[in-house]
Amino acid sequence: MAALDRSGVLAWLRSLPEEEFSHLLAEACQGRAYRHYDITDVRYAAAQVWRDGDEPWTVELIAAEDVARYQSTPFAAGFPTNDPIVRTAECSGCGQRVVSWARWVRCPVCGEALSCS
Ligand SMILES: [Zn+2]
Repeated sequence: MAALDRSGVLAWLRSLPEEEFSHLLAEACQGRAYRHYDITDVRYAAAQVWRDGDEPWTVELIAAEDVARYQSTPFAAGFPTNDPIVRTAECSGCGQRVVSWARWVRCPVCGEALSCS
């Protein structure tokens, strides 16, 4: 594989449509974790941050689909990367607000299986 050009990668990422960008970020963060000083669990999560007018900002973590839940369905090979984020849930495991393109997701923080509405 050819070496990637960092500025080229950034330019490409910034050029992506919103839906594809959010899918890619969420997928890139999945499974990235490490333990800091043997006591702190560190994970990565992509977030969508928004507000209406001058209202306070809302932070919602982008949750990828629960792959196990979609086995034997038309989405077994993955969701189209142009599926918009239209679903939300509050994680019953850790209380984080999550958003997704899929109904069945895994919380990017604690891994809880969630049903988005
Ligand atoms: Zn959670």
